[in-house]
Amino acid sequence: MTNQPISCLNYIGGKWQASTNGGQIESHNPAQWKEIVAIATSSGRTDVDLAVQAAREAYRHWRLVPAPARAEKLFRVGELLQQRKEELATLMSREMGKPITEARGDVQEGIDCAFYYAGEGRRLFGQTMPSELSNKFAMTVRMPIGVCALITPWNFPVAIPCWKSLPALVCGNTIILKPAKDTPACASILFEIFAAAGFPPGVVNLLQGSGEVIGSALAEHPGVDLLSLTGSSATGAKVAEICGRTHKRLCLELGGKNAQIVMEDANLELALEGALWGAFGTTGQRCTATSRLLLHSDIKAEFTARLLERTKQLKIGAGIEPSSEIGPLVNPAQLERVKAYIDIARNEGAQVLIGGESINNKERGCFFQPTILDGVTPTMRVAREEIFGPVVVLIEVTSFEEAIEILNDTSYGLSSSIYTQDINRAFQAMRDIEAGITYINGPTIGAEVHLPFGGVKQTGNGHREAGNAALDVFSDWKSVYIDFSGKLQRAQIDNR
Ligand code: NAD
Repeated sequence: MTNQPISCLNYIGGKWQASTNGGQIESHNPAQWKEIVAIATSSGRTDVDLAVQAAREAYRHWRLVPAPARAEKLFRVGELLQQRKEELATLMSREMGKPITEARGDVQEGIDCAFYYAGEGRRLFGQTMPSELSNKFAMTVRMPIGVCALITPWNFPVAIPCWKSLPALVCGNTIILKPAKDTPACASILFEIFAAAGFPPGVVNLLQGSGEVIGSALAEHPGVDLLSLTGSSATGAKVAEICGRTHKRLCLELGGKNAQIVMEDANLELALEGALWGAFGTTGQRCTATSRLLLHSDIKAEFTARLLERTKQLKIGAGIEPSSEIGPLVNPAQLERVKAYIDIARNEGAQVLIGGESINNKERGCFFQPTILDGVTPTMRVAREEIFGPVVVLIEVTSFEEAIEILNDTSYGLSSSIYTQDINRAFQAMRDIEAGITYINGPTIGAEVHLPFGGVKQTGNGHREAGNAALDVFSDWKSVYIDFSGKLQRAQIDNR
């Protein structure tokens, strides 16, 4: 593998080009920070103007391309992603650190998404309904929205851009993707694939650079019709404020503080596997990561002992090493953030059962030990704030009702899980948990692309990604009435 940094340009109007201001940003390998993975152009407001202009121009034609023909391009994206899956997964492991098996899963999610939305090109169903008047026909059709700005995080650098781009494109919108500055190379390869799939110039556009500069410029730009952002709640609030002022359609997918409940009747081995994967998969850097374990008092001691034993055995290492189960955190800032939360936990009276330290190696990798905090109460900051690292807190509960109450006692509402053998409790949990996703006897992570994805409360703003629900984000409903009576008919009046 060559260690030459990859050069990442913008893709605007069908052409690869450097930013007009000549700025650059680097992405580093979080497993050995001194290795520069990519050098990306860093865009400014002029580049935003150029991308919006290209996308607006292309929209005039793209919206009129029949949806099944638009879908053929998506199908091609799926095929090309399949061909380049290993290359992309390897790059992803180097650029943001996740273990190679998980990186393959990330690309696979993009492939699944491409084929799913390619299928939608032959559906995009509307409805017909009877009119209350004679000789009148009524139906609904989906309309594209226009130019969509898509702002994405680094933790799923292929899957999340695909979740947003592909439904937007099949609905007839044109897009401008602003990927996270930690993962420009993954976005660049994805756009090589988009370019090879044959989208007309201006339909797909890529702007590399900082969120503070171009993210907010996209939110402010009058030529952007919709903004879809996945990121932290703080960023979501900033963007929402701008989009409120500029009357822009906005879809937000933000943070989480997800919990897994383990009841006294649970299959403990299964619950243990789920907890390990949910808490430490992707080094805890998933929006759906398990960051709270709500353990019934009857099983807490045994479950904790087994969890500690298994956590000790987890293999930490560069994502690219096939034996690694836990990769590094994405960057030094994230490492500092996670460390700071351990100090906060200690100061609040929690005990570190295992982990709690960064792992210093000569490569200056951003590794942090998988960490379990005990003696945590629901009011502590580590029980309420998103840490986004391999840290899980243990909270003891004495009843099912208390477990649900504590699970719901958060400003977030993304994913949730309960392990129980009791069918009645499983159904009560399905009904009473306040979250966009609930798993019964499964961990909090593991979404599939054909189901809606997103959360309640401050995790989002009511929209859902993925599945059929994403079509409602990227299209508007039009109600159409066709009167073939040859006379004026007044609803609610002439038929009464
Ligand atoms: P982040 O909010 O720092 O960045 C996300 C994106 O927003 C990046 O592309 C960034 O450049 C851009 N951005 C930053 N500041 C901006 C601004 N002022 N205006 C416009 N854009 C701006 O988040 P991150 O650290 O990249 O990702 C981690 C966060 O994302 C976590 O909070 C995690 O829970 C969340 N996340 C949520 C989901 C979900 O579906 N709910 C999925 C993955 C990640």
